[in-house]
Amino acid sequence: MEMVVNSMKNYTTLHSLPISLLRQYVFCPRIPYYSELLGFNSNEPLWTEQGQKFHSDIESLIKRRLPSKFGLANPRFEKRMNVVSFELNLHGIVDYTFYNDEYVVPIEFKISGNKPTRGQELQLLAYGYALSEMKNLNFERGYFLFGNNKKPYSVFPSEEKKKDIIKIVNQIKNDQITMLLPESAASINKCTQCEFLNLCNDRNF
Ligand code: SF4
Repeated sequence: MEMVVNSMKNYTTLHSLPISLLRQYVFCPRIPYYSELLGFNSNEPLWTEQGQKFHSDIESLIKRRLPSKFGLANPRFEKRMNVVSFELNLHGIVDYTFYNDEYVVPIEFKISGNKPTRGQELQLLAYGYALSEMKNLNFERGYFLFGNNKKPYSVFPSEEKKKDIIKIVNQIKNDQITMLLPESAASINKCTQCEFLNLCNDRNF
């Protein structure tokens, strides 16, 4: 049994997690438990039809007009780039990336809202850390572009936020080792919009 637990610990130490789990964990710690450990599909839409139209509408716009806002000289641009961080044990796909020979800038679009949640911010920062590690470039800021006016909202990396990311990764992995359903302080509002509600039998609404 000890050998099984030890090999599980080794597996989870090395096992790379999807970056999107950071946001899901902040929403509710049980979601990564259900999706990663128990294998229930989170059915998270990639880009819905509305989202695909939104993305294609703005793609030429961001290539033509936005690089100057990001302060990058001679930027290159990539869409839906696969990223991995061996330092953070995370991987994912960034919506849009601008970079030049010095800096890398991750960008995420949100159809609605005007300010990122803590989970969305940590997700974008993790993309930036992974891009910086992969390309050996500086990561000093990332952007959200919200709604139809695509007004940029800047987010900045910091040691504190990096520690926050590492802490969440460790908590998710710890939940995988103990296999115990995490406690959740999720509000009624969160639970009623959650697709895993039928699995949480301590939530009676
Ligand atoms: S129903 Fe509530 S407690 Fe259960 S996973 Fe969803 S948000 Fe978390």
